[in-house]
Amino acid sequence: MKNLWNDAEAAAFKGDLGLRVYTSRLLGRDKSLVLHGGGNTSVKIREPNVVGEEEDLLYVKGSGWDLEFIEEAGFAPVRMAHLVKLVRLEALSDPQMVNELATHTTRAAAPAPSVETILHAILPHKYVDHTHADAVLSVTNTADGERRVREIYGDSVVVIPYVMPGFDLARLCAERFPAEAGKRTIGMVLMNHGVFSFGASANESYERMIRLVQMAEDYLARNKAWTLPAARNGGGGSQRLKIAGLRRDIARTAGFPMVMQVHRNARAFACRADVAQLSQQGPATPDHVIRTKRVPMLGGDVAGFAAAYRGYFERNAPLAREPKTMLDPAPRMVLDRELGLATLGRSAKDAAVVADLYLHTIEVIERSAALGEYKALSEKDIFDVEYWDLEQAKLRKSGRPPVFAGEVALVTGAASGIGKACVAALIARGAAVIGLDLDAAVEDLHPGSGYCGIRCDVTAKDAVEIALECGVAAFGGVDMLVLNAGIFGGGTPISQLRDDAWRRTMDINLDANLALLRECHPLLRLSPNGGRVVVIGSKNVPAPGPGMAAYSASKAALTQLARVAALEWGADGIRVNVLHPDAVFDTGLWSDEVLAARAAHYEMSVEQYRRRNVLRTEVASRDVAELAAEMCGPLFARTTGAQLPVDGGNERVI
Ligand code: ZN
Repeated sequence: MKNLWNDAEAAAFKGDLGLRVYTSRLLGRDKSLVLHGGGNTSVKIREPNVVGEEEDLLYVKGSGWDLEFIEEAGFAPVRMAHLVKLVRLEALSDPQMVNELATHTTRAAAPAPSVETILHAILPHKYVDHTHADAVLSVTNTADGERRVREIYGDSVVVIPYVMPGFDLARLCAERFPAEAGKRTIGMVLMNHGVFSFGASANESYERMIRLVQMAEDYLARNKAWTLPAARNGGGGSQRLKIAGLRRDIARTAGFPMVMQVHRNARAFACRADVAQLSQQGPATPDHVIRTKRVPMLGGDVAGFAAAYRGYFERNAPLAREPKTMLDPAPRMVLDRELGLATLGRSAKDAAVVADLYLHTIEVIERSAALGEYKALSEKDIFDVEYWDLEQAKLRKSGRPPVFAGEVALVTGAASGIGKACVAALIARGAAVIGLDLDAAVEDLHPGSGYCGIRCDVTAKDAVEIALECGVAAFGGVDMLVLNAGIFGGGTPISQLRDDAWRRTMDINLDANLALLRECHPLLRLSPNGGRVVVIGSKNVPAPGPGMAAYSASKAALTQLARVAALEWGADGIRVNVLHPDAVFDTGLWSDEVLAARAAHYEMSVEQYRRRNVLRTEVASRDVAELAAEMCGPLFARTTGAQLPVDGGNERVI
């Protein structure tokens, strides 16, 4: 456990709140302390209000902020005087608590204060830090966790048994803390939940957190429970149909498609003889459950998982304080001996978050098991958090999902021109996109987890095979295929057309697309919403140009191939349509020389040539890409085998 405090870095943060921001980010930077919105921090500050009265405020982490990236605006200032009165109440419902926190926050634009606000308020220290440190959870989540915690920490922490976070936990701590805290107390361990530290300065509170977690790490090391079993990668041949089939089954049960990521480094855990006993208990800390569900599915029996989930809901819902509506019963995690860990979410980012949470959980579980026995909370305790309205509200904030949420597209020729614009148009509509291109620039086309760029020669069978395996492992399948890669190879009359130039154009524009269609067909068939193919054809199909024999013939054959695919694949629910762009000059095909030569061929200036269409307009890559994306969407749900021009109107075509 590394102390990341750095005096020079800290000097850039001014005032009590500034340093609160700094050490919150330090906690957030260490994934073994907090993950994805987990944990929270606060600082108590006395400051004058607008009428000049001094007021004690608790600046506490706002909901929706991640500690790693938090700013001053991410802390909500709440009146201390009111918070310490609230904790004396016998009971406070969630809606009441939310209301009291919101109405006693002194900045209208502040985020909703953390659900642990009252708990932060009652701890008599200026700075309070709270994490879900893996090492501490590895100790608390064991059969005799409390004895072990007391052995490690003695009187340096107050130990609080598990209670649901929120008002009940704050109330219990308000009772226990003053009774049990002594001179040497520097923190508080919440069984099966996490750890608090506190201090008079940001540095002191942070340093104590690091010290407390280090003590747990040392204890694990002393008990030979720190070093994890070696990861097991590789193994097995092609898995892409198994992955896509599993994703389709899960989507059917969920009622919507999800991105599925495969993490083969978890195979060692998935292959443990005791994996069922270890994995079917519950999460390491309760707030993971809203993203991960209580347990992963073991193997591929989705119906069995859903039935078990319904049973869990029916057993626990009647015990809840208010009536509950069941969430979808589909898993968000799968443990499989061949695949390792597969995680699911409505976006690639969500699936990646689930993976982060569970890969850490596996470490906690394996260390707890090495200590003796992993023991999670009861299913009722987990249920209460999964169906806690304040937790579900965090997910609802993301609003209505975009049109291609949970769907996966593959675009060829993705590094430039129409392909690059297609990637952007599909990502903008919420799809996860696999981009293929010969150009290495394809690898870094988009930041973030929703894009996977793979350098690939689409005419090389082995390279396509590897790209499909990688792409499907990254996102779970292929729902939309945009066949865009192609070469122009034009400007040569038939009398001078060499065999090798003809062959090369056919290889790239036709043969490679046949292979891609054939290889992607089984994946498209498994698409939860039905597969879609958009072929980028050319105006040269309906209206060929002289000197364009190879290009025109290759695109005409490709169009015919697409029409046959539309016929053959209709029964599989796969739609195949063709776009015929013309004169899209912002693409890799059109160098200045080619443009000048074609303009000269038609006895026009370059400017005239750019707009030589009925509408006298320019057609850009983006125009083609937007239509390609729409053709994959609901607007064209009843259209297959169609050919649509995107050419500004061409007299020879009309
Ligand atoms: Zn917590």
